[in-house]
Amino acid sequence: MRIAMIGSGYVGLVSGACFSDYGHDVTCVDVNQDKIDQLNNGEIPIFEPGLQALVADNLNAGRLSFTTALASAVAQADVVFIAVGTPSRRGDGHADLSYVRAAATEIANALKGFTVIVTKSTVPVGTGDDVERIIAQANPKANFVVASNPEFLREGAAIEDFKRPDRIVVGIEDERARPVLEEVYRPLYLNQAPLMFTGRRTAELIKYAANAFLAMKITFINEMADLCEKAGGDVQAVARGIGLDKRIGSKFLNAGPGYGGSCFPKDTLALVKSGQDFDAPLRLIETTVAVNDQRKRAMGRKVIAACGGDVRGKTIGILGLTFKPNTDDMRDAPSIAIIQTLRDAGATIRAYDPEGMDMARTIIEGIEYATDAYDVATGADCLVLVTEWNQFRSLDLDRIRQSMATPALVDLRNIYRRKEIEDAGLSYVSIGRGADSGDHDGDQTAATQ
Ligand code: NAD
Repeated sequence: MRIAMIGSGYVGLVSGACFSDYGHDVTCVDVNQDKIDQLNNGEIPIFEPGLQALVADNLNAGRLSFTTALASAVAQADVVFIAVGTPSRRGDGHADLSYVRAAATEIANALKGFTVIVTKSTVPVGTGDDVERIIAQANPKANFVVASNPEFLREGAAIEDFKRPDRIVVGIEDERARPVLEEVYRPLYLNQAPLMFTGRRTAELIKYAANAFLAMKITFINEMADLCEKAGGDVQAVARGIGLDKRIGSKFLNAGPGYGGSCFPKDTLALVKSGQDFDAPLRLIETTVAVNDQRKRAMGRKVIAACGGDVRGKTIGILGLTFKPNTDDMRDAPSIAIIQTLRDAGATIRAYDPEGMDMARTIIEGIEYATDAYDVATGADCLVLVTEWNQFRSLDLDRIRQSMATPALVDLRNIYRRKEIEDAGLSYVSIGRGADSGDHDGDQTAATQ
């Protein structure tokens, strides 16, 4: 199959590289000339484990190429995927579809022969109809169908997720799309990944329902953590106790500073808007959004409380800035609101992240960026562990204590045990371990928060 991937970001680049690895002939397109130049030079503009090698292999094999020339890529393609961004629209939280619509118009004018156009971007229910209308109006003679194929990969494990998905969802309104998408996904289908065909609107809804459900699960355990702190309980044991129930499942039950990232915040908001537009309000999701928003600043206040109620003139060290480990993505990371709260209260911030600092510098100004965890700790009055990168799991605690002005750790990911931190001479605050039973391991299943 000849595939054109419109948009070469986290999703387009990973999907394009994986499709080429299956033997398809893939052209990844982007409007960003710098990005395309980097990719053509073998450089990967994002941090995603395994991507560099995957791209290099398929570039060398001649199955993968990068260009800004959308028209020629589309003209040669059997299938065109739209994988452009759908951020929150300023002001109302609706998904901003301007990139999708612009891509659809450009695609329309370039189509040659029968082509299946597939939205991989996360788009509100009904967007497939819009894309179809835009293309038909721009190019009435075009021979095309529009399908929906939402992407479920997680940054940090994107290649593994793409190659071993729990399911592939394809929404179609015209049967001509079915054999084409079956062929595109044939290698995965042979791997027994369930390929689920639905109507187009249903496919669009499945993506939002999945993300909203996971965001709700995280928010649920975060509220349970608050109750554990006040009532005297251990949220990790609660999570394990409910997660072992197969009807509930153990994933996404790690209490933390609130969900963030490039998907959950904007997708929950967009789903709330869809509910309102269709006069079917989604009150659980509305509440999830509100609770999570408040939580991020509440985490800042938790740090202030751990510092005796006042951080004016104090230096707070932040370990981890990205919304989760193994990505450089800073979009809607909880660190942003936490740092803002601390700065508003008069603190000076020193921060370190293994991969996220380049992007962080464009978002968070007025803080010091350190060279590693020990540099962050030097002279700090409190250390706050915000993102659970592996390298923060085995810190030299003696070295940390000796370099800090006041030895204190606020562990927003519960990766340490109270006893080991206190034995090392630091004070310790964590999440939802009110019974002070911080030595229970709980379930360490990674969650996207
Ligand atoms: P991104 O911002 O990393 O990438 C989007 C890319 O599209 C950018 O490089 C941009 O320059 C390019 N672009 C915009 N308009 C274009 C046009 N007209 N022609 C060509 N290129 C264009 O975004 P992302 O994180 O890859 O997300 C893309 C979509 O996938 C979103 O809808 C998102 O919700 C969804 N999604 C993201 C993830 C994730 O983990 N990032 C997971 C699943 C789904």
